[in-house]
Amino acid sequence: MRYLSTRGQAAPRDFEGVLLAGLAEDGGLFLPESWPSLSAAEWRALRGLPYAELSARLIHPFAGEALSFETLRAMTGEAYAGFGHPAIAPLVQLDQRSFALELFHGPTLAFKDMAMQLLGRLFDHALARRGERITIVGATSGDTGSAAIEACRDRHAIDLVMLHPEGRTSEVQRRQMTTVLSPNIANIAIQGSFDDCQDLVKAMFNDAPFRREMHLAAVNSINWARVAAQIPYYAYAALALGAPDRPVAFSVPTGNFGNVLAAWAVRRMGLPVERLIIGANRNNILARFLASNDMSIRTVEPSYSPSMDIQVSSNFERLLFELLGRDGAATAAVMGRFRAEGLMPVPDAAWREATALFHGFTLDDPGTLAEIRRLWTTAGYLADPHTAIGTAAARALAPEDPGIPVVVAATAHPAKFPDAVEAAIGLRPPLPPRLADLYERQERYSGAAPDLAVVEALVRGHARRNG
Ligand SMILES: *Cc1c(COP(=O)(O)O)cnc(C)c1O
Repeated sequence: MRYLSTRGQAAPRDFEGVLLAGLAEDGGLFLPESWPSLSAAEWRALRGLPYAELSARLIHPFAGEALSFETLRAMTGEAYAGFGHPAIAPLVQLDQRSFALELFHGPTLAFKDMAMQLLGRLFDHALARRGERITIVGATSGDTGSAAIEACRDRHAIDLVMLHPEGRTSEVQRRQMTTVLSPNIANIAIQGSFDDCQDLVKAMFNDAPFRREMHLAAVNSINWARVAAQIPYYAYAALALGAPDRPVAFSVPTGNFGNVLAAWAVRRMGLPVERLIIGANRNNILARFLASNDMSIRTVEPSYSPSMDIQVSSNFERLLFELLGRDGAATAAVMGRFRAEGLMPVPDAAWREATALFHGFTLDDPGTLAEIRRLWTTAGYLADPHTAIGTAAARALAPEDPGIPVVVAATAHPAKFPDAVEAAIGLRPPLPPRLADLYERQERYSGAAPDLAVVEALVRGHARRNG
Protein backbone atom coordinates (compact mmCIF):
# COMPACT_ATOMS: atom_id res chain seq x y z
CA MET A 1 0.00 0.00 0.00
CA ARG A 2 1.37 3.40 -0.99
CA TYR A 3 0.49 6.69 0.69
CA LEU A 4 0.06 10.11 -0.91
CA SER A 5 0.29 13.54 0.69
CA THR A 6 -2.86 15.65 0.74
CA ARG A 7 -0.78 18.50 -0.69
CA GLY A 8 0.40 16.48 -3.66
CA GLN A 9 4.12 17.34 -3.51
CA ALA A 10 5.81 14.85 -1.16
CA ALA A 11 7.02 11.53 -2.58
CA PRO A 12 4.71 8.56 -1.88
CA ARG A 13 5.73 6.28 0.98
CA ASP A 14 4.78 2.89 2.34
CA PHE A 15 3.06 2.25 5.68
CA GLU A 16 6.32 2.15 7.63
CA GLY A 17 7.56 5.35 5.99
CA VAL A 18 4.30 7.11 6.85
CA LEU A 19 4.38 5.78 10.40
CA LEU A 20 7.84 7.20 11.00
CA ALA A 21 7.34 10.45 9.07
CA GLY A 22 4.03 11.62 10.60
CA LEU A 23 3.60 14.83 8.63
CA ALA A 24 4.60 14.83 4.93
CA GLU A 25 7.52 17.05 3.80
CA ASP A 26 5.12 19.35 1.91
CA GLY A 27 3.16 20.01 5.12
CA GLY A 28 0.35 17.68 4.07
CA LEU A 29 -1.06 14.54 5.68
CA PHE A 30 -0.72 11.05 4.26
CA LEU A 31 -3.65 9.03 2.94
CA PRO A 32 -3.72 5.59 1.30
CA GLU A 33 -3.49 5.70 -2.48
CA SER A 34 -6.72 3.71 -2.60
CA TRP A 35 -9.18 2.62 0.10
CA PRO A 36 -9.45 -1.09 0.83
CA SER A 37 -13.05 -2.16 0.35
CA LEU A 38 -14.82 -5.25 1.67
CA SER A 39 -17.91 -6.91 0.20
CA ALA A 40 -20.99 -7.51 2.35
CA ALA A 41 -20.04 -11.19 2.58
CA GLU A 42 -16.52 -10.30 3.70
CA TRP A 43 -17.90 -8.00 6.40
CA ARG A 44 -20.31 -10.68 7.62
CA ALA A 45 -17.42 -13.11 7.96
CA LEU A 46 -15.79 -10.73 10.46
CA ARG A 47 -18.74 -10.75 12.86
CA GLY A 48 -18.03 -12.16 16.29
CA LEU A 49 -14.23 -12.03 16.08
CA PRO A 50 -12.36 -11.01 19.23
CA TYR A 51 -11.38 -7.33 19.11
CA ALA A 52 -7.64 -7.86 18.66
CA GLU A 53 -8.20 -10.29 15.79
CA LEU A 54 -10.69 -8.00 14.03
CA SER A 55 -8.31 -5.14 14.47
CA ALA A 56 -5.40 -7.00 12.84
CA ARG A 57 -7.59 -8.05 9.91
CA LEU A 58 -8.81 -4.53 9.23
CA ILE A 59 -5.47 -2.78 9.68
CA HIS A 60 -3.46 -5.28 7.64
CA PRO A 61 -4.65 -4.04 4.22
CA PHE A 62 -3.33 -0.58 5.16
CA ALA A 63 0.06 -1.98 6.12
CA GLY A 64 0.42 -4.05 2.95
CA GLU A 65 3.86 -5.55 2.45
CA ALA A 66 5.35 -3.41 5.23
CA LEU A 67 4.16 -5.89 7.89
CA SER A 68 3.18 -9.57 7.82
CA PHE A 69 -0.28 -10.44 9.10
CA GLU A 70 1.17 -12.69 11.81
CA THR A 71 3.42 -9.90 13.11
CA LEU A 72 0.55 -7.44 13.15
CA ARG A 73 -1.73 -9.91 14.90
CA ALA A 74 0.88 -10.48 17.59
CA MET A 75 1.07 -6.71 18.09
CA THR A 76 -2.69 -6.14 18.35
CA GLY A 77 -2.87 -9.08 20.77
CA GLU A 78 -0.27 -7.45 23.03
CA ALA A 79 -1.64 -3.93 22.59
CA TYR A 80 -5.09 -4.82 23.90
CA ALA A 81 -4.07 -7.47 26.44
CA GLY A 82 -3.74 -4.94 29.28
CA PHE A 83 -7.19 -3.43 28.87
CA GLY A 84 -9.54 -3.42 31.83
CA HIS A 85 -12.50 -5.04 30.02
CA PRO A 86 -12.51 -8.40 28.22
CA ALA A 87 -14.49 -6.95 25.29
CA ILE A 88 -11.82 -4.18 24.89
CA ALA A 89 -14.47 -1.81 23.48
CA PRO A 90 -17.83 -2.84 25.00
CA LEU A 91 -21.15 -1.50 23.73
CA VAL A 92 -23.54 -0.32 26.45
CA GLN A 93 -27.15 0.40 25.56
CA LEU A 94 -28.38 3.82 26.72
CA ASP A 95 -31.93 3.89 25.38
CA GLN A 96 -34.06 2.27 22.70
CA ARG A 97 -31.65 3.05 19.88
CA SER A 98 -28.45 4.55 21.24
CA PHE A 99 -25.35 2.83 22.50
CA ALA A 100 -22.14 3.96 24.15
CA LEU A 101 -19.06 2.39 22.57
CA GLU A 102 -16.70 2.49 25.55
CA LEU A 103 -13.22 3.25 24.29
CA PHE A 104 -11.73 4.07 27.69
CA HIS A 105 -10.67 0.74 29.17
CA GLY A 106 -6.98 1.20 28.32
CA PRO A 107 -4.15 2.24 30.70
CA THR A 108 -4.93 5.99 30.67
CA LEU A 109 -8.74 5.69 30.64
CA ALA A 110 -9.29 7.50 27.34
CA PHE A 111 -9.91 6.42 23.77
CA LYS A 112 -6.46 7.44 22.58
CA ASP A 113 -5.07 4.25 24.16
CA MET A 114 -6.95 2.30 21.49
CA ALA A 115 -4.54 3.60 18.85
CA MET A 116 -1.53 4.49 20.93
CA GLN A 117 -0.96 1.09 22.51
CA LEU A 118 -0.61 -0.29 18.99
CA LEU A 119 1.39 2.68 17.70
CA GLY A 120 4.12 2.25 20.34
CA ARG A 121 4.57 -1.35 19.20
CA LEU A 122 4.54 -0.42 15.51
CA PHE A 123 7.28 2.16 16.12
CA ASP A 124 9.38 -0.26 18.12
CA HIS A 125 9.13 -2.93 15.46
CA ALA A 126 10.03 -0.57 12.61
CA LEU A 127 12.95 0.99 14.49
CA ALA A 128 14.40 -2.31 15.60
CA ARG A 129 14.27 -3.53 12.01
CA ARG A 130 16.11 -0.41 10.82
CA GLY A 131 18.49 -0.11 13.76
CA GLU A 132 17.34 3.49 14.36
CA ARG A 133 16.20 5.70 17.22
CA ILE A 134 13.63 8.49 17.12
CA THR A 135 12.52 11.49 19.11
CA ILE A 136 8.78 11.80 19.35
CA VAL A 137 7.47 15.30 19.92
CA GLY A 138 3.79 15.74 20.55
CA ALA A 139 1.20 18.30 21.53
CA THR A 140 -1.64 17.36 23.79
CA SER A 141 -4.73 18.97 25.21
CA GLY A 142 -4.64 16.22 27.80
CA ASP A 143 -5.38 12.70 26.70
CA THR A 144 -3.01 12.22 23.76
CA GLY A 145 -0.07 12.99 25.98
CA SER A 146 -0.69 10.42 28.66
CA ALA A 147 -1.67 7.80 26.08
CA ALA A 148 1.56 8.40 24.13
CA ILE A 149 3.64 8.38 27.29
CA GLU A 150 2.12 5.07 28.42
CA ALA A 151 2.73 3.61 24.97
CA CYS A 152 6.40 4.75 24.80
CA ARG A 153 7.67 4.69 28.39
CA ASP A 154 10.92 2.77 28.77
CA ARG A 155 11.04 1.84 25.08
CA HIS A 156 14.62 1.53 24.03
CA ALA A 157 14.63 3.32 20.68
CA ILE A 158 12.32 6.21 21.56
CA ASP A 159 12.70 9.53 23.38
CA LEU A 160 9.46 11.39 23.89
CA VAL A 161 8.86 15.08 24.62
CA MET A 162 5.24 16.09 25.22
CA LEU A 163 3.95 19.67 25.13
CA HIS A 164 0.77 20.55 26.99
CA PRO A 165 -0.93 23.93 27.55
CA GLU A 166 -0.19 25.01 31.11
CA GLY A 167 -3.26 24.93 33.33
CA ARG A 168 -5.57 23.81 30.51
CA THR A 169 -5.58 20.10 31.22
CA SER A 170 -7.35 18.50 34.15
CA GLU A 171 -5.19 17.63 37.15
CA VAL A 172 -5.71 13.93 36.50
CA GLN A 173 -4.56 14.38 32.91
CA ARG A 174 -1.47 16.37 33.93
CA ARG A 175 -0.50 13.89 36.62
CA GLN A 176 -0.94 10.94 34.29
CA MET A 177 1.81 12.52 32.17
CA THR A 178 4.10 14.18 34.67
CA THR A 179 4.30 11.31 37.15
CA VAL A 180 5.90 9.00 34.58
CA LEU A 181 9.54 9.39 35.58
CA SER A 182 11.03 7.08 32.95
CA PRO A 183 14.28 8.58 31.61
CA ASN A 184 13.02 8.61 28.01
CA ILE A 185 9.97 10.76 28.85
CA ALA A 186 9.87 14.58 29.26
CA ASN A 187 6.93 16.97 29.67
CA ILE A 188 6.89 20.71 28.87
CA ALA A 189 4.07 22.98 30.05
CA ILE A 190 3.65 25.69 27.39
CA GLN A 191 2.33 29.09 28.47
CA GLY A 192 -0.39 29.20 25.83
CA SER A 193 -3.21 27.19 24.28
CA PHE A 194 -3.30 23.72 22.78
CA ASP A 195 -3.12 25.30 19.33
CA ASP A 196 0.15 27.02 20.37
CA CYS A 197 1.49 23.60 21.34
CA GLN A 198 0.38 22.09 18.08
CA ASP A 199 1.89 24.99 16.11
CA LEU A 200 5.21 24.44 17.90
CA VAL A 201 5.18 20.77 16.97
CA LYS A 202 4.39 21.61 13.35
CA ALA A 203 7.14 24.24 13.32
CA MET A 204 9.67 21.71 14.65
CA PHE A 205 8.69 19.34 11.85
CA ASN A 206 9.00 22.13 9.30
CA ASP A 207 12.51 22.95 10.57
CA ALA A 208 14.23 20.43 8.28
CA PRO A 209 17.73 20.43 9.89
CA PHE A 210 16.25 20.08 13.37
CA ARG A 211 13.90 17.37 12.19
CA ARG A 212 16.81 15.39 10.69
CA GLU A 213 19.11 15.92 13.67
CA MET A 214 16.48 14.68 16.14
CA HIS A 215 14.93 12.01 13.90
CA LEU A 216 11.58 13.57 14.77
CA ALA A 217 8.46 11.47 14.67
CA ALA A 218 4.86 12.28 15.53
CA VAL A 219 2.17 10.61 17.53
CA ASN A 220 -0.48 13.30 17.18
CA SER A 221 -3.62 12.34 15.37
CA ILE A 222 -2.02 13.56 12.13
CA ASN A 223 -0.11 10.25 12.10
CA TRP A 224 -1.90 7.98 9.66
CA ALA A 225 -1.27 4.86 11.73
CA ARG A 226 -3.34 6.35 14.53
CA VAL A 227 -6.31 6.90 12.29
CA ALA A 228 -5.89 3.36 10.93
CA ALA A 229 -5.85 1.91 14.45
CA GLN A 230 -9.15 3.70 15.22
CA ILE A 231 -11.00 2.16 12.29
CA PRO A 232 -11.59 -1.31 13.83
CA TYR A 233 -13.74 -0.18 16.75
CA TYR A 234 -16.29 1.45 14.48
CA ALA A 235 -16.47 -1.74 12.46
CA TYR A 236 -16.71 -3.78 15.69
CA ALA A 237 -19.75 -1.76 16.85
CA ALA A 238 -21.43 -1.71 13.46
CA LEU A 239 -21.02 -5.48 12.99
CA ALA A 240 -22.37 -6.14 16.48
CA LEU A 241 -25.50 -4.11 15.67
CA GLY A 242 -26.24 -5.86 12.40
CA ALA A 243 -24.09 -4.21 9.72
CA PRO A 244 -23.63 -4.71 6.82
CA ASP A 245 -27.31 -5.74 6.77
CA ARG A 246 -28.46 -2.81 8.88
CA PRO A 247 -27.25 0.79 8.61
CA VAL A 248 -25.81 2.55 11.65
CA ALA A 249 -25.00 6.12 12.64
CA PHE A 250 -22.09 7.31 14.76
CA SER A 251 -21.90 10.29 17.09
CA VAL A 252 -18.36 11.35 17.90
CA PRO A 253 -17.26 14.11 20.29
CA THR A 254 -14.53 15.64 18.19
CA GLY A 255 -11.70 18.13 18.36
CA ASN A 256 -9.01 17.29 15.84
CA PHE A 257 -11.38 15.35 13.55
CA GLY A 258 -9.21 12.24 13.93
CA ASN A 259 -11.70 9.97 15.62
CA VAL A 260 -14.61 10.85 13.34
CA LEU A 261 -12.35 10.47 10.31
CA ALA A 262 -11.88 6.82 11.29
CA ALA A 263 -15.68 6.44 11.38
CA TRP A 264 -15.79 7.98 7.91
CA ALA A 265 -13.17 5.45 6.79
CA VAL A 266 -15.29 2.40 7.69
CA ARG A 267 -17.99 3.82 5.46
CA ARG A 268 -15.43 4.27 2.69
CA MET A 269 -14.48 0.60 3.25
CA GLY A 270 -18.01 -0.51 2.57
CA LEU A 271 -20.06 -0.50 5.80
CA PRO A 272 -23.46 1.23 5.64
CA VAL A 273 -22.86 4.31 7.81
CA GLU A 274 -25.95 6.46 7.43
CA ARG A 275 -24.82 9.55 9.29
CA LEU A 276 -21.82 10.95 11.15
CA ILE A 277 -22.70 13.28 13.99
CA ILE A 278 -20.00 15.56 15.35
CA GLY A 279 -20.31 16.84 18.92
CA ALA A 280 -18.49 20.01 19.91
CA ASN A 281 -18.20 22.22 22.96
CA ARG A 282 -18.14 26.02 22.63
CA ASN A 283 -14.98 25.65 20.50
CA ASN A 284 -17.17 24.58 17.62
CA ILE A 285 -15.29 25.33 14.41
CA LEU A 286 -16.51 22.08 12.81
CA ALA A 287 -20.14 22.63 13.78
CA ARG A 288 -19.98 26.16 12.37
CA PHE A 289 -18.46 24.80 9.19
CA LEU A 290 -21.24 22.25 8.76
CA ALA A 291 -23.97 24.79 9.60
CA SER A 292 -22.82 27.59 7.30
CA ASN A 293 -19.48 26.78 5.64
CA ASP A 294 -17.80 28.99 8.24
CA MET A 295 -14.48 27.30 9.00
CA SER A 296 -12.96 30.29 10.78
CA ILE A 297 -10.51 30.30 13.65
CA ARG A 298 -11.61 31.92 16.90
CA THR A 299 -9.81 32.04 20.20
CA VAL A 300 -9.84 28.81 22.16
CA GLU A 301 -12.05 28.97 25.26
CA PRO A 302 -11.66 26.53 28.13
CA SER A 303 -14.55 24.13 28.70
CA TYR A 304 -15.53 21.07 30.75
CA SER A 305 -14.34 18.95 27.81
CA PRO A 306 -10.72 20.16 27.49
CA SER A 307 -9.69 17.48 25.01
CA MET A 308 -11.90 19.24 22.48
CA ASP A 309 -10.70 22.79 23.26
CA ILE A 310 -9.32 23.10 19.76
CA GLN A 311 -9.90 25.56 16.95
CA VAL A 312 -7.89 23.95 14.18
CA SER A 313 -9.03 20.43 13.36
CA SER A 314 -5.89 19.09 11.71
CA ASN A 315 -7.35 15.87 10.36
CA PHE A 316 -10.05 17.73 8.48
CA GLU A 317 -7.45 18.22 5.75
CA ARG A 318 -7.77 14.53 4.90
CA LEU A 319 -11.53 14.84 4.32
CA LEU A 320 -10.97 18.08 2.41
CA PHE A 321 -8.56 16.28 0.05
CA GLU A 322 -11.25 13.66 -0.62
CA LEU A 323 -13.97 16.28 -1.08
CA LEU A 324 -11.76 18.08 -3.59
CA GLY A 325 -11.44 14.92 -5.67
CA ARG A 326 -7.96 14.12 -4.28
CA ASP A 327 -6.53 17.24 -5.89
CA GLY A 328 -3.35 17.96 -3.90
CA ALA A 329 -2.73 21.38 -5.46
CA ALA A 330 -6.29 22.51 -4.67
CA THR A 331 -5.98 21.19 -1.09
CA ALA A 332 -2.65 22.99 -0.65
CA ALA A 333 -4.22 26.23 -1.91
CA VAL A 334 -7.19 25.99 0.48
CA MET A 335 -4.92 25.14 3.43
CA GLY A 336 -2.52 27.94 2.53
CA ARG A 337 -5.31 30.51 2.59
CA PHE A 338 -6.68 29.05 5.84
CA ARG A 339 -3.24 29.47 7.39
CA ALA A 340 -2.87 33.02 6.11
CA GLU A 341 -6.39 34.33 6.68
CA GLY A 342 -7.88 32.12 9.40
CA LEU A 343 -10.85 31.31 7.16
CA MET A 344 -10.95 28.13 5.09
CA PRO A 345 -12.36 28.77 1.61
CA VAL A 346 -14.10 25.41 1.09
CA PRO A 347 -15.81 25.35 -2.33
CA ASP A 348 -19.59 25.24 -2.08
CA ALA A 349 -19.95 21.83 -3.78
CA ALA A 350 -17.47 20.26 -1.35
CA TRP A 351 -19.26 21.81 1.62
CA ARG A 352 -22.62 20.45 0.40
CA GLU A 353 -21.17 17.01 -0.01
CA ALA A 354 -19.83 17.11 3.55
CA THR A 355 -23.19 18.22 4.98
CA ALA A 356 -24.99 15.29 3.31
CA LEU A 357 -23.17 12.93 5.68
CA PHE A 358 -21.83 14.99 8.60
CA HIS A 359 -24.06 16.83 11.06
CA GLY A 360 -22.63 19.16 13.71
CA PHE A 361 -23.89 19.85 17.21
CA THR A 362 -22.68 22.32 19.83
CA LEU A 363 -23.20 22.00 23.59
CA ASP A 364 -22.11 24.56 26.17
CA ASP A 365 -20.90 23.76 29.69
CA PRO A 366 -24.32 23.98 31.45
CA GLY A 367 -25.79 21.76 28.73
CA THR A 368 -22.98 19.26 29.22
CA LEU A 369 -23.66 19.02 32.96
CA ALA A 370 -27.40 18.66 32.30
CA GLU A 371 -26.69 15.80 29.90
CA ILE A 372 -24.44 14.01 32.44
CA ARG A 373 -27.31 14.36 34.94
CA ARG A 374 -29.90 13.12 32.45
CA LEU A 375 -27.88 10.00 31.57
CA TRP A 376 -27.35 9.26 35.24
CA THR A 377 -31.02 9.61 36.19
CA THR A 378 -32.58 7.98 33.11
CA ALA A 379 -30.12 5.15 32.40
CA GLY A 380 -27.90 4.93 35.48
CA TYR A 381 -25.03 5.69 33.14
CA LEU A 382 -22.07 7.76 34.30
CA ALA A 383 -20.57 9.67 31.38
CA ASP A 384 -17.58 11.97 31.20
CA PRO A 385 -18.18 15.46 29.71
CA HIS A 386 -16.85 14.52 26.24
CA THR A 387 -19.06 11.46 26.02
CA ALA A 388 -22.04 13.51 27.24
CA ILE A 389 -21.61 15.90 24.31
CA GLY A 390 -21.71 12.86 22.04
CA THR A 391 -24.90 11.48 23.59
CA ALA A 392 -26.64 14.87 23.47
CA ALA A 393 -25.61 15.25 19.82
CA ALA A 394 -26.93 11.75 19.09
CA ARG A 395 -30.33 12.60 20.56
CA ALA A 396 -30.59 15.88 18.71
CA LEU A 397 -29.44 14.63 15.32
CA ALA A 398 -30.27 10.92 15.08
CA PRO A 399 -31.51 9.79 11.66
CA GLU A 400 -35.31 9.99 11.25
CA ASP A 401 -35.58 6.18 10.85
CA PRO A 402 -35.77 4.88 14.45
CA GLY A 403 -34.51 1.48 13.26
CA ILE A 404 -31.05 2.94 12.70
CA PRO A 405 -28.98 2.60 15.88
CA VAL A 406 -26.73 5.46 16.93
CA VAL A 407 -23.38 4.55 18.42
CA VAL A 408 -21.79 7.22 20.59
CA ALA A 409 -18.02 7.12 20.97
CA ALA A 410 -17.53 7.16 24.77
CA THR A 411 -14.09 8.72 24.76
CA ALA A 412 -13.08 9.00 28.41
CA HIS A 413 -13.74 7.34 31.76
CA PRO A 414 -15.77 9.66 34.01
CA ALA A 415 -13.04 9.50 36.69
CA LYS A 416 -10.74 11.48 34.37
CA PHE A 417 -13.03 14.50 34.79
CA PRO A 418 -14.23 14.22 38.39
CA ASP A 419 -14.92 17.96 38.86
CA ALA A 420 -17.42 18.15 36.01
CA VAL A 421 -19.10 14.90 37.03
CA GLU A 422 -19.36 16.09 40.64
CA ALA A 423 -20.80 19.43 39.51
CA ALA A 424 -23.43 17.51 37.52
CA ILE A 425 -24.57 14.80 39.94
CA GLY A 426 -22.89 15.50 43.28
CA LEU A 427 -20.81 12.32 43.16
CA ARG A 428 -17.09 12.04 42.58
CA PRO A 429 -16.33 9.01 40.42
CA PRO A 430 -13.41 7.06 41.92
CA LEU A 431 -10.31 6.22 39.89
CA PRO A 432 -9.96 2.53 39.09
CA PRO A 433 -7.59 0.74 41.49
CA ARG A 434 -4.61 0.85 39.12
CA LEU A 435 -4.60 4.65 39.30
CA ALA A 436 -5.75 5.11 42.88
CA ASP A 437 -2.44 6.58 44.17
CA LEU A 438 -2.04 9.09 41.31
CA TYR A 439 -2.37 12.15 43.57
CA GLU A 440 0.50 10.99 45.78
CA ARG A 441 2.98 10.29 42.98
CA GLN A 442 5.90 12.64 42.32
CA GLU A 443 5.63 14.96 39.27
CA ARG A 444 8.39 16.13 36.92
CA TYR A 445 8.07 18.72 34.12
CA SER A 446 9.49 22.01 32.86
CA GLY A 447 7.74 25.17 31.64
CA ALA A 448 8.34 27.35 28.56
CA ALA A 449 6.93 30.26 26.60
CA PRO A 450 5.50 29.34 23.16
CA ASP A 451 8.83 30.14 21.50
CA LEU A 452 10.26 27.77 18.90
CA ALA A 453 13.94 28.33 19.77
CA VAL A 454 13.34 27.79 23.48
CA VAL A 455 11.34 24.62 22.91
CA GLU A 456 13.82 23.22 20.37
CA ALA A 457 16.62 23.73 22.90
CA LEU A 458 14.64 21.78 25.51
CA VAL A 459 13.98 18.95 23.06
CA ARG A 460 17.65 18.85 22.04
CA GLY A 461 18.65 18.62 25.70
CA HIS A 462 16.37 15.70 26.28
CA ALA A 463 16.96 13.60 23.18
CA ARG A 464 19.69 11.00 23.34
CA ARG A 465 21.64 11.21 20.11
CA ASN A 466 20.73 9.05 17.19
CA GLY A 467 23.04 6.76 15.30
C1 LIG B 1 -8.81 13.52 22.08
C2 LIG B 1 -10.17 13.40 22.67
C3 LIG B 1 -11.31 13.78 21.94
C4 LIG B 1 -11.21 14.34 20.54
O1 LIG B 1 -10.69 13.41 19.64
P1 LIG B 1 -10.17 13.90 18.20
O2 LIG B 1 -9.53 12.71 17.59
O3 LIG B 1 -9.24 15.03 18.48
O4 LIG B 1 -11.38 14.32 17.47
C5 LIG B 1 -12.54 13.58 22.53
N1 LIG B 1 -12.67 13.11 23.78
C6 LIG B 1 -11.61 12.77 24.52
C7 LIG B 1 -11.81 12.27 25.91
C8 LIG B 1 -10.34 12.89 23.98
O5 LIG B 1 -9.28 12.54 24.73
